[in-house]
Amino acid sequence: MQKPKGTYDVYGELGRKTICILNLARTLMDKYNYEYFRTPIFEPSELFHRGVGETTDIVTKETYDFVDRGKRNMTLRPEGTAGIVRSYLENKFYASPVQPVKAWYYGPMYRYEQPQAGRFREFYQFGVEVFGSFDPAIDAEVISIPVNLYKMLGLKNIKVRINSLGDTETRLKYREVLMNYFRPHLNELCDDCKARFEKNPLRILDCKVDHNLEIMKNAPKILDYLSENSRKHFNEVLEILDTMEIEYVVDPEIVRGLDYYTDTVFEVTAESSKLGSQNTLCAGGRYNNLVKTIGGVDTPGVGFALGMERLISVLETEGINLNTDQHLDIYVIPMDENYKKNAISLTQLLRLNGFSADTDYMNKNLKSNFKQADRFNSEFIIIIGENEIKNNELTVKNNKTREEFKVKIDEIISFLDERIEEHEESICE
Ligand code: ATP
Ligand code: MG
Repeated sequence: MQKPKGTYDVYGELGRKTICILNLARTLMDKYNYEYFRTPIFEPSELFHRGVGETTDIVTKETYDFVDRGKRNMTLRPEGTAGIVRSYLENKFYASPVQPVKAWYYGPMYRYEQPQAGRFREFYQFGVEVFGSFDPAIDAEVISIPVNLYKMLGLKNIKVRINSLGDTETRLKYREVLMNYFRPHLNELCDDCKARFEKNPLRILDCKVDHNLEIMKNAPKILDYLSENSRKHFNEVLEILDTMEIEYVVDPEIVRGLDYYTDTVFEVTAESSKLGSQNTLCAGGRYNNLVKTIGGVDTPGVGFALGMERLISVLETEGINLNTDQHLDIYVIPMDENYKKNAISLTQLLRLNGFSADTDYMNKNLKSNFKQADRFNSEFIIIIGENEIKNNELTVKNNKTREEFKVKIDEIISFLDERIEEHEESICE
């Protein structure tokens, strides 16, 4: 049996890295005062059609759809925003006294794509959504989250690219301009783009097939058509980013693959990556019309989603080590089977007192147990045998310095407390 195409298993080093980044994201979200949200992995297909947009690649080609046993059309979520918007509406967060509503999420997403480096069919996103505020400062706050996360991880060669897609007024005007521009060149475009021309000409600019065509480079830029409101909003976002000392480039080519964006859109790209066209680490923007489209309540929103796989891949390319080496505070060794229960109860005591501890479950001899302690990179080893029980004291070895101590059983916790520090230098603990 093999895993489905485009999926992967997590274990060992990759598992430790994943947990490390997730812990980091979680603490960061605490600092930003965002609330954790979790929504179902499947929802009625209708939600994603409306939410993500009928003309997007995601909806036209990439969704995992199924009919459940009650004959309902369901879809495995391709992204996190639509579900959170649904939850926001269903739980009436728009009536909450706390505004804006700031949410963060982490979980698997599903898209039927051609698997390649940085592109999977099941992949994980960490993201945020903020509802209820038009303030350009919230756009800047949202942009600062992935930037700070990447900074905490030590990533160097990343670039924030920002653009504005304008409001409805802007979009209507720009749509005309784009159609007039592309109409004489229709036969140069791929079949998908020919279809996009009528339905959503903006999508043409995001085409991965036609991307390098000369007509793409010379296409009119939406920034030149922004309404007064949108221009003002965009300028303020940039000013606040300056105040926050977040570097960015204005990149008029950023359109994004989802239909719901209005005004600010941004991407963070890894300039050093081996990911090729998959070098977008995270992407997001403002979606002032999405909530209304899904549920009728007119609420502005802004958010981003960050791909875990690409992040981990770029950390590897940049040679960034997350200190995810195996580590154990204490490995407890019974001298022989007679002392197994003593070892287990000591291990239990240590764990309850906040240490990481393990013991032998394979009835190994002393020598193999020492090897095992080394494999776990255990800082201390405690041995329990006949002498230890008779004298009511434990033999404690510092596995690094090889020093040996005799410690009374009821003093073991304070003994270890003094010697095992928090690993503050580590980014993950
Ligand atoms: P791309 O242009 O690379 O297809 P997208 O526009 O579809 O990306 P979003 O839907 O905005 O991307 O998702 C945000 C982030 O999620 C991406 O920047 C990327 O890091 C990650 N991501 C998207 N699709 C995949 C995938 N199939 N496999 C792994 N990560 C993905
Ligand atoms: Mg995509």
